[in-house]
Amino acid sequence: EAYDKNTLQQQRRKLPAYHAREELMKVIAENQVVVVIGETGSGKTTQIPQFLYEAGYCKFGGLIGVTQPRRVAALSVAKRVSEEMNVKVGKEVGYTIRFEDKTSPKTRIKFMTDGILLREALLDAELDKYSCIVMDEAHERSLNTDILLGLFKRVLTRRRDLKLIVTSATMNADKFSRFFGNAEQFTIPGRTYPVETLFSAIAAQDYVASAVKQIIRVHLRSEPGDILCFMTGQEDIETTCEELTKELETLIKSDPSIEPLQVLPIYSTLPADLQSKIFRRSKYRKCVVATNIAETSLTVDGIRFVVDTGLMKLKVYNPKLGMDTLQITPISLAQANQRSGRAGRTGPGLCYRLYTKYASLKEMFPEPIPEIQRTNLSNTILLLKYLKVDDLSKFPFLDKPPIETINTAQYDLWCLGALDNFGKLTALGKKMSNFPIDPALSRLLIVSSFSQFQCSKEMITIVTMLSIPPIFVRPTHDAALQRRSDSVREKFQVAESDHLTLLNIFNLFKANGCQERWCTKNFLQYKSLRRAVEIHTQLSQIMGSQKLAITSNPDWDVIRKCLCASYFHQAAQFKKYGEFVNLRTGLQMRLHPTASLYGLGDLPKYVIYHELLLTGREYMNYVTAVEGEWLCEFGEIFYAAKEKGITSRENQARKEHEFQKVIAEQRK
Ligand code: ADP
Ligand code: MG
Repeated sequence: EAYDKNTLQQQRRKLPAYHAREELMKVIAENQVVVVIGETGSGKTTQIPQFLYEAGYCKFGGLIGVTQPRRVAALSVAKRVSEEMNVKVGKEVGYTIRFEDKTSPKTRIKFMTDGILLREALLDAELDKYSCIVMDEAHERSLNTDILLGLFKRVLTRRRDLKLIVTSATMNADKFSRFFGNAEQFTIPGRTYPVETLFSAIAAQDYVASAVKQIIRVHLRSEPGDILCFMTGQEDIETTCEELTKELETLIKSDPSIEPLQVLPIYSTLPADLQSKIFRRSKYRKCVVATNIAETSLTVDGIRFVVDTGLMKLKVYNPKLGMDTLQITPISLAQANQRSGRAGRTGPGLCYRLYTKYASLKEMFPEPIPEIQRTNLSNTILLLKYLKVDDLSKFPFLDKPPIETINTAQYDLWCLGALDNFGKLTALGKKMSNFPIDPALSRLLIVSSFSQFQCSKEMITIVTMLSIPPIFVRPTHDAALQRRSDSVREKFQVAESDHLTLLNIFNLFKANGCQERWCTKNFLQYKSLRRAVEIHTQLSQIMGSQKLAITSNPDWDVIRKCLCASYFHQAAQFKKYGEFVNLRTGLQMRLHPTASLYGLGDLPKYVIYHELLLTGREYMNYVTAVEGEWLCEFGEIFYAAKEKGITSRENQARKEHEFQKVIAEQRK
């Protein structure tokens, strides 16, 4: 399925961006900041970086940096552009995403996630190695993009030679212009075909079943053209694909004249080789089942039918749990239009909305809410403090985050020892900012190198294993295989700790020569474990650069004790009937059925846990049994006082009050 070079060039020439090239390059030459607006699929992402390259913006060694809010997009677009330029990925065209760097000294066009550029800004505030930066998909308003835009305000005045191109679908474009002092706008004239949208007459009870039904109907009755279906995430995408395939098999058995349908999933954690399948030509009608990644960041040609559930998964901060959770919510009206527009790129199209018109008016916001206004900001604030933005109220936010969110984040960072009583970054906080992981995990790594633990080698492994997608494979259809996979899993389990179980598996993987065969035999994800080995190396390098000793201490008790030094805010006490209660928030929780402690007759009095999973109720995921006194030792903020008769919640409230007072003082 290799593309023939001619057709690639022919395809390029057909893109609206191609025809706007000269004018666009003129506007860029004359202005430092340009906001480029264009329909999805007009060639903004793939063409603008090449235009800049060809116009000589890399002549003096400068790089063209292109940011994407999504990993998948960064990777897929880098592949496409290198094909168009006829070079290997990692040479002239490369990409960097977290824990994965495919660039070389030769690289001139670098695609990356916005998070990567933000990290680079920590090391080099002027971003000196770039001559141009394209902030792509800015309309998505991801947290990191918003922060970068704020940082650029300062960088641009100091570096007059730096070009900034902000690309956006039609929504939000004026806002970006205004933000940069009425920056020049350039609209790529595009052609789109009319799309007829049909609403459901009644609300769907089960959106997966409705989507499957609608897709089959389109396939059986309609003229040629591919189908794009919007779902919320991996799970419902997989179910949809399975049910579609099953349903079609039955239909074809009874009527062999029915054409097959090529069903293709796409979501961010899908392995790269499977992701690129959606772009390949197919003999049969294609049906791509996607998350909102296909709304604007990826364009599949030939789509004529869109099936839209009207839903998405959204990261939202839940104050009761004190953390972000993924929630299935209705999309915004702007997104609904964006989704239906996907059907009208190559000809007139049809969009089937699986919700009623009434629901769209009643439940959908006109525009999506920017991430900065709905998620936890600890990580971001740690970075801003590192960049010496001590007074957050002075930072040029495109949209201000709620003050409570800023305060919660500062409080969390203070608990972790990253901020002092005056809200300033501590030495520990400075070290923490250098790790591209959650503050609690970076603290864990740093503390593990302290003299009383010296178990940093083990802790790097544990943190690594917590940063990769789940490693256990559980066959879905075969009950016998399922039982076998469960018993193999038990074999790896360390009874009192999921963290130690993860450590155990990683060590066994290495001891067995990092073999795929060994993984398959043991129902483990080979690709994830391979990645773990790479991440381990990278985290070790960061430890080195921060002058933190890497020493091994295989003593399980020491490792569990060390975990308490960072997880004290996620500690729980056993109550009764499998019920635990968080010592800080009082929230009731249970063990997740995959936890190694699950089903034990004698449950420990105290545990720490890595995260909460919400499926009806709150379940602790990755759990380790600990001693109460360890918690007192390291979580003195909450627990020492408790032993003296003050409950942790009162103590927390008191401390919190003190800290808030300090923050309030500062704001005056
Ligand atoms: P925009 O950024 O304006 O939405 P793009 O530059 O992403 O547009 O896409 C331009 C064209 O390139 C589209 O027709 C799209 O199908 C094609 N394209 C982009 N990425 C790939 C890829 N990885 N494989 C095949 N085609 C691609
Ligand atoms: Mg794009």
